[in-house]
Amino acid sequence: MDLKAYYRLISSEGRAKKYLSKKCLKNRHRFCPRCQCRKLYKLREGRYRCSRCQYTFQEFSGRWINQGRLSCVQWLSLIKLFELEVSVRKMAQQMGLAYRTVYRAVQTIRLAIVTQAQDAAQLLGGEIELDESYFGGRRKGHRGRGAAGKVPVLGILERDGQVHVTVVPDVTAATLLKLAVKKVRRGSIVYTDKFKSYDSLMFCGYRHLKVDHQKYFSSGKVYINGLEGFWSWAKERLIKHHGVSQTHFPLYLKELEFRYNHRTHDIFDLVAKYLCNLVPKRD
Ligand SMILES: [Zn+2]
Repeated sequence: MDLKAYYRLISSEGRAKKYLSKKCLKNRHRFCPRCQCRKLYKLREGRYRCSRCQYTFQEFSGRWINQGRLSCVQWLSLIKLFELEVSVRKMAQQMGLAYRTVYRAVQTIRLAIVTQAQDAAQLLGGEIELDESYFGGRRKGHRGRGAAGKVPVLGILERDGQVHVTVVPDVTAATLLKLAVKKVRRGSIVYTDKFKSYDSLMFCGYRHLKVDHQKYFSSGKVYINGLEGFWSWAKERLIKHHGVSQTHFPLYLKELEFRYNHRTHDIFDLVAKYLCNLVPKRD
């Protein structure tokens, strides 16, 4: 969304609400957040009642955007600042809100992104790059695989497609292959480096080709440059945030995955849409 359209949108609470409210529709219809029924009675003050389950709700009931008591204009401003990768501290300053309020809202955005990614997940296939990388921790100690205090992350990249990243407890063959098998279609060509944990890939139904970094960076199609590009892109962004705690790192990593996979899309529009999704019920 360009700035002109954005300023118009946030010029009144009514406009902002209309924009977000539209994102709550399914096939242009409003529906009950409990039973999905489309037959609703319109009540006063923007409320609705479901004709099937009698649930009374308002436009944003049960949705991510209903959390945190922000106005629609505030949400849209927050989404814009999130799109621009502004830090929580600066967001709070610019919006005149408490740090805690903004922090919670940004976490809500991240949760909405992760949930959407899980719902839309599909198998990757064709030509795949597989590699692990280490994030965070102190610079001291030995570097590279198994470096102390660092968090290992497995990356799976479909060439000309999406990247998928997951924090892993370790980099043993059992852990890495289990995740790869879950995510990559059988029969795909998988490129990795010479790390021994990947040795059994050919027994999992893949054509496995290895890159030897020591001999040459890449030979023909046998390279993992796509993932290496993602790793350096992601790490550059993390530096900007002056480190992320280990507890929040998985959520932050998924945000980076989302940004990377949608780098040619309108992030503002997507985040607004995800925030209008229903929050899944806990079992
Ligand atoms: Zn209902």
